[in-house]
Amino acid sequence: MSGKITFTMIKPDAVADGHIGAILGKIAEAGFKIKALKLTQLTVADAQKFYEVHAGRPFYGELVDFMSSGPIVAAVLENENAVESFRTLIGATNPADAAEGTIRKMFARSIGENAVHGSDSDENALIEAQFHFSGREIF
Ligand code: ADP
Ligand code: MG
Repeated sequence: MSGKITFTMIKPDAVADGHIGAILGKIAEAGFKIKALKLTQLTVADAQKFYEVHAGRPFYGELVDFMSSGPIVAAVLENENAVESFRTLIGATNPADAAEGTIRKMFARSIGENAVHGSDSDENALIEAQFHFSGREIF
């Protein structure tokens, strides 16, 4: 059974490029309800821990540097089948492969600087939400 919660970040590229409002608009239009929301910045240690699963990959260092390079927007979102429907809304990891109308197609700079994060499972959505928000910041 699929869960109702996913976790997202608007990444430093999209914040710097002025796309916070447009991306939150696309998320709302797609029917997601905002359960938690903040503008924040990851330290290098935070980014290393958040992306620990990718520690062996060649792009890990670049990813950690990028994700800690500037402010992000973190959010917990609610919808039916939230993880899968949000990943459909954001599109493929590489914006060159992302479908027309998806958030990454519209706003990402590159495969690394790809505008948004979306959780890949119900279990990780909960872990990621709790990484960024305390209980009293989630509504
Ligand atoms: P997704 O974010 O679509 O779930 P992954 O979990 O595979 O993708 O990768 C996590 C993040 O690492 C991506 O969103 C992207 O920022 C970065 N990344 C993935 N693959 C590459 C790559 N080949 N080169 C540079 N950065 C990458
Ligand atoms: Mg992933």
